Formats: sequence, structure tokens, C-alpha cells
Amino acid sequence: MTQLLRDTDPKTAGIAAALIRRGELVALPTETVYGLGADGLNPDAVAKIFVAKGRPQDNPLILHISEPKELEKYCRDIPGSAWDLAEHFWPGPLTMVLPARDIVPRSTTAGLDSVAVRCPQTPVTREIIRLAGVPIAAPSANLSGKPSTTSAQHVLNDYGADGPLAAIVDAGPCRVGVESTIVSLLGERPRLLRPGGVGPEQLREVLGRLEVDQAVTGLLSDDAVVRAPGMKYKHYAPRAQVIVVEGPSETAAKYIRPRLDKNSAVLCFREELPLYGGCQTLAYGRESDPQTLSAGLFAALRELDRDDISTIYARCPTGGGVACAVRNRLLKAAGFRTVRAEETL
Ligand code: AMP
Ligand code: MG
Repeated sequence: MTQLLRDTDPKTAGIAAALIRRGELVALPTETVYGLGADGLNPDAVAKIFVAKGRPQDNPLILHISEPKELEKYCRDIPGSAWDLAEHFWPGPLTMVLPARDIVPRSTTAGLDSVAVRCPQTPVTREIIRLAGVPIAAPSANLSGKPSTTSAQHVLNDYGADGPLAAIVDAGPCRVGVESTIVSLLGERPRLLRPGGVGPEQLREVLGRLEVDQAVTGLLSDDAVVRAPGMKYKHYAPRAQVIVVEGPSETAAKYIRPRLDKNSAVLCFREELPLYGGCQTLAYGRESDPQTLSAGLFAALRELDRDDISTIYARCPTGGGVACAVRNRLLKAAGFRTVRAEETL
């Protein structure tokens, strides 16, 4: 039976840490999404993550540490820029890719000589990592292919209470709601592999230059050589076809409304709800406050992940900061299928 533990219970961190040390799987809250955690130095424990999620073996995991200085234990040849980033953004929603030390099992890194490391913000999770005395490898806790988990209930929905998880630690809904920003520091120039809670402008302020990987902006072919291996997989997607409709609110509504039927839904901004009276509509946040969009996106995609919905018309923010990450996840859910509403009228 999966134990349900609350972050507010003083015994939770000790119980969860003991389970991790025993090689068990524990779902952990972070400010980005809920992760499926295991001892990142124990290949048998790490193998359980891949089996439980149905995750392809060539998709590496992120190691979570309790303090920025622990970076040294798992990475070598750490450039000054890594410490600059750590100082500005850790603990927080930023992951760095660096050369791995031999202590990191190659099952954690999916055979790579580099490792992705992050120091998350959520206090109970940092305390669990500290008490466990090992870095915790954790991908998002969703079953592979499903939208990410941003609440303990999402995790329970995916695995049930008799499944492979020893425990789920509940700290309420995730504040950021999309996965961490990933920056590779392996090459000459820092490279953005995945947008997240830390925006590209914030990174540029610290790093100066930042290259943006092609996987962020376009669909990769199956045989593409990718720097962030997970990025070639279809992610974040409900079973329906998602179509991103671009353009001003009224123009988009003119395109979407006549196309709606009982098997389609609109995923829009709260400000746009009056444009869709009588339609199957779900608002995931406010356009004027992108943080609400990132916090609400995956819960909304999960709500629309139903057999009777075959098409989702989605409205997508265009700005910088976390809006960049929301845009990336929605475009990926859509397989980069977009319509410019103004060109169709
Ligand atoms: P998830 O935990 O599901 O958010 O996925 C973690 C992602 O981090 C992977 O899918 C990769 O895109 C990225 N990642 C992890 N380790 C590495 C690495 N060594 N090099 C490049 N990307 C990595
Ligand atoms: Mg994931």
C-alpha cells in the first residue's frame, strides 16, 4: 500500500528518507512538478523509476541535491558560470548539465558522461534529500506520455494506491507547475535545452550569451541526435489532438467557435471565457499573469484528457519569462501544430 504523507507532519521527512535509502520509490513535491524519486546512486532503485513510469531507457534523469555545494560531489570540471547560476537561481527551478563523476551510475544518466543536477526549493523535499544522504533521481511523476503531475492527487490517479510507489509526499499544488529550465554547460557556450520557471532573459543576465537548442522551438525527427535526449519524445500530451490557435482573442474565437462540436474543447485564458459562452471551455490561468498559466496548465490538460474529447483548441501566451515554458509545453502537446487565426478569416 502506498503511504500518503503530508509535508506538515514532522515525521514525513524521516519516513520518506528511510524509504529512499531502502531503494524504494517515493513521489516528491517540488516547486516545478511532482517527481518520482529514488536513490540516484543505486542502479536498482533507478531501474524501478524507468519500469514504473514506462520511461524509455535512453531518457536520462535529473539528480536532486539539498544544497548547491553538493554539485561538486557529482560533477567535475565545473565552470564559474555554474556557480553564478547556482547563486542566482538555487534553490529553484533550474537544472544544469555538467560532466558527471564516476560515482553517478550510468543508468541515471542513460549512459551519458554528463549529468543533470538541480537543487529544488520545496523545504520538505530538500530535508528528505538531506536525511537520505544521497542525491535523489527524479523525473516528473506522471506515467510516461501523460501530462506532468502538479498535485499529489495526479500521482495517485496515475499509479493508484496499490501500485509501485512506497509513498507520496503531499505539499499541495506546485507553485511553478512546469518542469525546470535546463541549461547545458558542457560546450563553449551555455545552451538552453528546455525552458522552465527561470526565463531566458534571466539566464542571459547572468550568463551573457545563451544559445537556444533547436529542440526548444521545433519537432525533432526520431533519429535526430539530441542534446537533451528526452526532448525527442512526444510529451505533455492528452489523448486529443491539440491545435494551438494564435492571434488576438477575438480573432481566435472567430476561428474556433464554428469548429466546436461535442468532441472538442477550448483551452483558453480566463479573460477569454466571455467569448466562448455555451461552449466546452476550460480556462487554465490569466493571460495577464503568466505564472497562473504555468501553475494551471498540466491540471487543465489532465482534465481534458478524456475519451470523448478528440480535439482541443488551445490559446497560448507569447511573452518571455515563464510564458516561454508554457508556450513550449503547449506546442509540444500540439506536436507543433499551430493555426494563425487572422490568416484564415
Ligand atoms: P524529466 O525528469 O521528465 O523532466 O526529464 C529530464 C530531462 O532532463 C531529460 O528528458 C533530458 O531532456 C534532460 N537531461 C537529463 N540529463 C541530461 C544530460 N546528461 N544531458 C542532457 N539532458 C539531460
Ligand atoms: Mg517528464
